[in-house]
Amino acid sequence: MEQRRITVIRGDGIGPSIVDAAVAVLDHAGCGFAYDYVEGGLTALENTGELLPQETLDAIERNKVALKGPLTTPIGKGFSSINVSLRQQFQLYANVRPVISFAGTKARYENIDIITVRENTEGMYSGRGQTVSDDDTVAEALSVISRGGAERILRFAFDLAQREGRRKVTVVHKANILKSTSGLFLRVAREIAANYPHIETVEMIVDNACMQLVMNPEQFDVIVTTNLFGDILSDLCAGLVGGLGMAPGANIGADCAIFEAVHGSAPDIAGKNIANPTSVILAACQMLDYLDMGDRAGKIRGALRSVIAKGEKTTGDLGGTASTTEFTQALIEAL
Ligand code: ATP
Ligand code: MG
Repeated sequence: MEQRRITVIRGDGIGPSIVDAAVAVLDHAGCGFAYDYVEGGLTALENTGELLPQETLDAIERNKVALKGPLTTPIGKGFSSINVSLRQQFQLYANVRPVISFAGTKARYENIDIITVRENTEGMYSGRGQTVSDDDTVAEALSVISRGGAERILRFAFDLAQREGRRKVTVVHKANILKSTSGLFLRVAREIAANYPHIETVEMIVDNACMQLVMNPEQFDVIVTTNLFGDILSDLCAGLVGGLGMAPGANIGADCAIFEAVHGSAPDIAGKNIANPTSVILAACQMLDYLDMGDRAGKIRGALRSVIAKGEKTTGDLGGTASTTEFTQALIEAL
């Protein structure tokens, strides 16, 4: 059988150390991948003069599956977000962000198992129509919801719920105020939900969803929402299970998929070998699920569970004192 090739972008800040950890874990779990390493973000800008070199785009297109570290977009004029560009370029319309409780973290809850499905290409992140007056007195941005875009993300979320045996989908919106955009999303949600009568559908306004997530998160199962709400709610969900170091995300389109940590490059802890690589390792597990290698993903998740539960080799964000490399070594031994 031909060896599966994966595109790897190590990324900026803590990216290289946590991505290297994930690749080492994949190798020790016997995944047998070959890797094409390409650059993106600040690292690419310094080495090639471009944030997203053609070679990187070609490698993603060729292998269809990429594992990526956080990429930094320089602040200032002329640079649009690389993460947003990648999602739009490859039409990665579904951002799937699961959070699950691990014993041994400092999280406030113990029984969380929530998947946020975030629309990834339109909404407030449409990138269209942004205008800023020359004298810096007015700024505006265009939020775009299309029927087609809403249908495909809602169908994706309900299909995922069905495939994974989930019982409930919560549609998060703000249709009472954002009547045009959120209103359309909610109308489409009702139409799609009607095709999945065995799945319970709950409609929830985003501000209430925030409170409910903090007060009683166990009520949530699958959440589906528009781009900006999904961005914010998924970080909130990460906080329920021990922070951003525990939060992976998959960006999935019809043809390609990119797996990454939810968090950014964490410049405050970069280069110190103290970042928690669990986020990217769990993203690698999502990638294995996507590639029908769920058995390997299960092994890796089991190793994570045992090392985090023991607590002897965990990183600072989980209350431990181990370095990124010590944590990774413990995982490899557990495998
Ligand atoms: P960016 O501008 O690239 O988004 P940021 O400054 O917003 O970077 P984030 O990466 O979003 O930083 O992280 C927010 C906070 O969470 C930081 O204080 C960071 O130290 C912490 N953090 C993020 N990822 C991890 C991780 N993998 N392990 C430990 N702490 C993390
Ligand atoms: Mg950030």
